Amino acid sequence: MPEISSSKPYRIGRSRTGLGLFATRKIKKGTKIIRYFGPLLDSKNKKHDDIDNKYLFEINNRWTIDGSTRKNIARYINHACRPNAESDVSSRKRKVIIRAIKTIQPGEEINYDYGTDYFKIFLKPIGCKCDHCEKKRAKKRAEARAEKLRLKLKAEKRAAKKADKAARKATKAAGKAVTPKAAKKRNPLGAAKANAHARGTGKPTKTKASRTKPLSRVQPKAASRARRAS
Ligand SMILES: [Zn+2]
Repeated sequence: MPEISSSKPYRIGRSRTGLGLFATRKIKKGTKIIRYFGPLLDSKNKKHDDIDNKYLFEINNRWTIDGSTRKNIARYINHACRPNAESDVSSRKRKVIIRAIKTIQPGEEINYDYGTDYFKIFLKPIGCKCDHCEKKRAKKRAEARAEKLRLKLKAEKRAAKKADKAARKATKAAGKAVTPKAAKKRNPLGAAKANAHARGTGKPTKTKASRTKPLSRVQPKAASRARRAS
């Protein structure tokens, strides 16, 4: 490993998908960040061809880097569809360097595009969890929620309109049926007279009722007692 080992601008940390590589200081655009390294596998070698893991980095038709070794810190770099770094492949030297394609701020996760093959095989089935795809999913969810709410409000509005129409129809029908009575009731003078009458006779009637009630309740009891006594 070249110069990067002494003053690493990155650290391994927790990311959305497990572990990831994060910038510990500002990494300028175009800077080499880390080398992706491991044993070279030759496709012409039958034994090599049988090796299969998630960290294989194909350089060309013949050579592949087996990056599964723990010393290969670059293997912690996660995939992103809108990355801030790229894998710079030198086919002739059979070397892969991860390089910043944007200026990366301290604390920011470093990532590069793993390529369509990896995406199709490993990420598409489970859903890519990179920032870009998460945002896209969140936007879609928000849009779906908004659409659902819009439809709900529309349905409620329609139902309210229908109910209002039905109510108006009913009042119209009821109005036609009771027009003479309603007209009488609406007569303010008549209503006032009726009220005055009720107020005038109301009180005595009530007291009369309360007086007669206990009497009528006692009477049967007294009668039964009298019956028992005889
Ligand atoms: Zn993605």
